[in-house]
Amino acid sequence: MSNSLDRKRILLVHPLGYRKEAAGKDISRMANIMPPLGMATIAAYLERRGIAADIIDCYARPAEADRLIVEYLRSFRPGYIGFSCTTSSFLDGARLAGLAKSALPGIRTVFGGVHVSARREQALADYPMVDFVVMGEGEQTLTELIEADSSEPAGIEGVIYRDNAGTVINNGYRQARLELDELPFPAYEKLAGYPAAYMLPIFNYPKAPNTSCISSRGCPYACSYCDRSVFRRSFRYNSAGYLYEHLQYLKDRFHIRHINFYDDQFTFNRQRVEEFCRKMIDHPLRMTFNCAVRAEHIDYELLRLMRRAGCWMISLGIETGDEDLLAQHRQNANLAMLAEKIRLIKKAGIRTKGLLMMGLPGESEKSIQKSMDYVFSLPIDDFNLAKFTPFPGSPIYEKIHELGEFEEDWEKMDCMSFQFVPKGMTRERLEELFIRFYKTHYMRPKVLLGYAAMLWKSPDSWRRFAWNFFDFVKFARSNKRLGDDDE
Ligand code: SF4
Repeated sequence: MSNSLDRKRILLVHPLGYRKEAAGKDISRMANIMPPLGMATIAAYLERRGIAADIIDCYARPAEADRLIVEYLRSFRPGYIGFSCTTSSFLDGARLAGLAKSALPGIRTVFGGVHVSARREQALADYPMVDFVVMGEGEQTLTELIEADSSEPAGIEGVIYRDNAGTVINNGYRQARLELDELPFPAYEKLAGYPAAYMLPIFNYPKAPNTSCISSRGCPYACSYCDRSVFRRSFRYNSAGYLYEHLQYLKDRFHIRHINFYDDQFTFNRQRVEEFCRKMIDHPLRMTFNCAVRAEHIDYELLRLMRRAGCWMISLGIETGDEDLLAQHRQNANLAMLAEKIRLIKKAGIRTKGLLMMGLPGESEKSIQKSMDYVFSLPIDDFNLAKFTPFPGSPIYEKIHELGEFEEDWEKMDCMSFQFVPKGMTRERLEELFIRFYKTHYMRPKVLLGYAAMLWKSPDSWRRFAWNFFDFVKFARSNKRLGDDDE
């Protein structure tokens, strides 16, 4: 066999965000495993340009990922290996890049995703196993990088690299953006075990098989805690026609029955959503869907239409029930308007999920109590309470050390632990209040009845819940991810 590498081939790797040895027992994985959609879109785009691309998703297959990667490198000898990393998965990506370089000398490593898009030059300066960083959207940049096949890709927008003298060069962000309707559908078939290997959060869907899907990029708002280093402040979207065809494809090829739109702002362009809903009503696919919205971009008429088109659940960012605190972190902080919109969603016959955060800079016992009072006064079916985490690309990151105590341990920065403690609070107290928030929610009779109704509204959720019952109870009692027991 020739020793040369196949320079028109790349292995794309989605590294794990949590300790590999504990991941099999990790509660967040049991509850929710999302397909790496960005990576699957890049793979489809590269293949269309004649570059072979395969994917190994360590998140879906934690126990065997290292072995699979090394076997692939030795069998196919790709010229490139690409990693898409969040902050919590970056160090695992760096470790795997080192592993790839020892298993296959000469391979070039490329890093993309939110963490390196925020860290930029620093990611290369601090990590010698990183050969290239792709800032922002990856499709065109990665294609041009592989086609040029140069160690010094001067002039390729979106790339950061080291020149032969070792100086880090940043070619700057790519100016022209892709037209999203020109993208192929993600290469779902390259995700081993898709769709069964992936799952939406329990009680967040009526039917299986189901999947997530992205139909827009970017968000024009500027919340203090939100990292928009990849898609930045533009908002681009697939047309209603493309979207309908995408769903039809998922149904025909993978028998998908429910979609979770993972867009930041599904309803930002009202006309597109109306058109999409009318297609779903006039030519039914017998599929349901969830989406996330900002309260400013929904009204009763649109909600009714969405319901008729199959909308099952809407998630809505609340963040905190303390209006003064909210005003410090996002535009248009109006809790009365939010409450009104939540009531409209319910009135339209759609389930509602509130997205909240605990531990924002400025948080206090009083603001947490206000959040509980606010949330429990609303007809919310479900909520997710994240532990605030200051990510490197978020506006608040710059001055975070002035606002409290921040332990910047990247591997733990996945919103499942309090890495930041706001002034006036302690980590222990935050943990206690976090548990109290959830317990109070689950002990309300109305909420318990709602979950009981899921027996017929989402039987598959109950099957999963029963299967993992003891692990969920253990987590609820201790608030520890199961892997933490081993520490
Ligand atoms: S939190 Fe939501 S609304 Fe705010 S900037 Fe991020 S995506 Fe936009």
